[in-house]
Amino acid sequence: MANVTTTGQPQCRFCGMPLRNTFVDLGMSPLCESYVCRDQLNQMEPFYPLHVYVCGECFLVQLEAFVSAEHIFSDYAYFSSYSDSWVEHARLYTERMIERFHLGPHHHVVELASNDGYLLQHFVARGIPSLGVEPAANVAEVAMRKGILTVVKFFGENTAHELAAEGRMADLLLGNNVLAQVPDLNDFVKGMKILLKPQGVITLEFPHLMRLMAENQFDTIYHEHFSYFSLTTTVKIMAAHGLAVFDVEELPTHGGSLRVYACHGADASKPQSDRVGELLAREARAGFDTLGCYARFEEQVKETKRKLLAFLIKTKSEGKSIAGYGAPGKGNTLLNYCGIRSDFLDYTVDRSPYKQGKFLPGTHIPIFHPDRIKETKPDYVMILPWNLKIEIMDQLSYIRSWGGRFVVPIPEVEVCA
Ligand SMILES: [Zn+2]
Repeated sequence: MANVTTTGQPQCRFCGMPLRNTFVDLGMSPLCESYVCRDQLNQMEPFYPLHVYVCGECFLVQLEAFVSAEHIFSDYAYFSSYSDSWVEHARLYTERMIERFHLGPHHHVVELASNDGYLLQHFVARGIPSLGVEPAANVAEVAMRKGILTVVKFFGENTAHELAAEGRMADLLLGNNVLAQVPDLNDFVKGMKILLKPQGVITLEFPHLMRLMAENQFDTIYHEHFSYFSLTTTVKIMAAHGLAVFDVEELPTHGGSLRVYACHGADASKPQSDRVGELLAREARAGFDTLGCYARFEEQVKETKRKLLAFLIKTKSEGKSIAGYGAPGKGNTLLNYCGIRSDFLDYTVDRSPYKQGKFLPGTHIPIFHPDRIKETKPDYVMILPWNLKIEIMDQLSYIRSWGGRFVVPIPEVEVCA
């Protein structure tokens, strides 16, 4: 599955050079979306290396692909609509795009990895023809029930040619949190180039590597996230496929994301905004084009683990109870890397009925309905999707009635009164 050289060395998925430099090695971990059913608890569970490299040539931070995209997406458990703040983020995005690019009924919007239609529903409501491309049949089905035209396919050069031949080229082509999950990065970007109309706009959102490093977000590293992007590498990758980045926004989502705007390299109607040059310069000052900048991350991650475990050991020694909130992919990386099982976290809860009644991969912590927190009144609730902590602390403010407190594990363990 992994791209390797003839000598067995992993290869950069963008430039093909052998990967020799470690960014961080998080050990062996199960696939973070492989929730375990009760009748599977006594069976073997596959673990794969979570060893992240940085390419010494192009500086793309990346994991080897040990699992196929088909395996990850065939029965995908993530339904975007279960996060209120993410749905609101999507609504604001659609309004801004409609306004900025004057989108109307004669335009065509295509979303790659359109999930359950959480975003396209807002374009559809405004009468703008929209198409979702979504590889997971179970989530695509939910979108189709909402009346959102969706094709169940993996996106790449072949799918782009098929859609273009059917007259489905895009005025706005968007991909939120998908670029990282693409094993064949060059094929995906090639596909975007093909599907984009001559004056069309691409927008991509993905977590910003600079923020991941600055804020210790190592738990956002999992097997399903093959690549971790700076703006520097993104511009290089786009340019290699004849696309030009003409604007960038820094967003607070997922712990700090970039929204990158790209167009055809030959499209002179979209001058580059100052924000692109400013962020590239900031990344250059931070050393993103040198290996030294990446070499410091691993020790920072180990220190975060030690501090979190010290807190958990102290709290349990005092006889206190700790429950989790949420069962996100990032929680699974954190818990497996730190060795936190039901010895520390009694259970976790999640709003997604798909996850309730199952167990977290690797750690086998049980997942319940959120009402479990009211029933058991834990002393601490550890928020695993820390990017949504404000929303979650608001929803769960009732834990204060019994003196319960929130714990956020990242960027470093913190108790919130
Ligand atoms: Zn490379």
